[in-house]
Amino acid sequence: MKIGFIGLGNMGGHMARNLAAAGHEVTGFDPVAPCPEGVATAPDAPAAAQSAEVVITMLPDGAILSRVAEEVIPAMEKGALLLDCSTVDVASARAVAEKARAAGLLAVDAPVSGGTGGADAGTLTFMAGGSDEGFAIARPLFDIMGQKAVHCGESGAGQAAKICNNMILGITMIGTCEAFALADKLGLDRQKMFDVVSTSSGSSWSMNTYCPAPGVGPVSPADNDYQPGFAAELMLKDLRLSQQAAELADADTPLGQAATALYQRFVEDEDGRGRDFSAMLPRFEERGRDS
Ligand code: NAD
Repeated sequence: MKIGFIGLGNMGGHMARNLAAAGHEVTGFDPVAPCPEGVATAPDAPAAAQSAEVVITMLPDGAILSRVAEEVIPAMEKGALLLDCSTVDVASARAVAEKARAAGLLAVDAPVSGGTGGADAGTLTFMAGGSDEGFAIARPLFDIMGQKAVHCGESGAGQAAKICNNMILGITMIGTCEAFALADKLGLDRQKMFDVVSTSSGSSWSMNTYCPAPGVGPVSPADNDYQPGFAAELMLKDLRLSQQAAELADADTPLGQAATALYQRFVEDEDGRGRDFSAMLPRFEERGRDS
């Protein structure tokens, strides 16, 4: 299949490389990042999109996605698929899909989870929104770049699933970290805390799989001095998207709001930038009730 790939950063570079390694003819464009092995370089985004059956975008945010879509949609052939794998706001995802459809294209939003490790290994999870026809075309590509793809509904549904998932993740990580910090102050051994909670009703992915306490549970960024992993600023981005969506939908999300404010403080005023999002634990450890 002829594929145009736009945005070859930490995630997109690996994804494009895996598609090329699987035998697809991939042409890439990124103003900064180099094309990975096996991927031909285009001089600009429209050139990467021209004559491609599928154009994949993996970009930082909705504003950039909208600008790139303006450029590439006119360059694409009717019936081709615009497949956006970036994490963006639901409104931008829907607007881009609408423009693509109006130009005779198919559009699917398919944000991912699994991080750079999953992108490298081809084990991402895709959450997709769009028509059955678009999803069917994208499916074999999802199978190369990932291990699971869920068709969540119409355009924007993939982004909705992603931000709801990550809102839960941000909230449970904060809850897990504050509970560990409280347990410390109550003199409870961290391993005992893990042994109980990971098999009790307080268990979650944050505790069981990505434990924020070093030396406890499976290996996680906590065991590597909180090198990301999933950086705190990316968690902040996703939490902000959840709150933007909550505003749009008039949804009451008090814990999502509190988690957003806490990660904002951590990233912008404290030492969270560049650290894994589970570094909330040392943050809580250092604090008392009034700090
Ligand atoms: P990144 O910043 O490494 O890559 C984005 C790339 O887009 C950059 O190389 C940049 O040069 C390029 N770009 C910017 N403007 C462009 C334009 N006009 N035309 C073409 N390319 C342009 O980011 P990333 O970590 O690869 O993340 C990409 C997306 O995936 C984001 O939406 C992010 O939220 C999401 N995501 C990231 C992770 C992760 O762990 N890194 C996990 C899940 C989802």
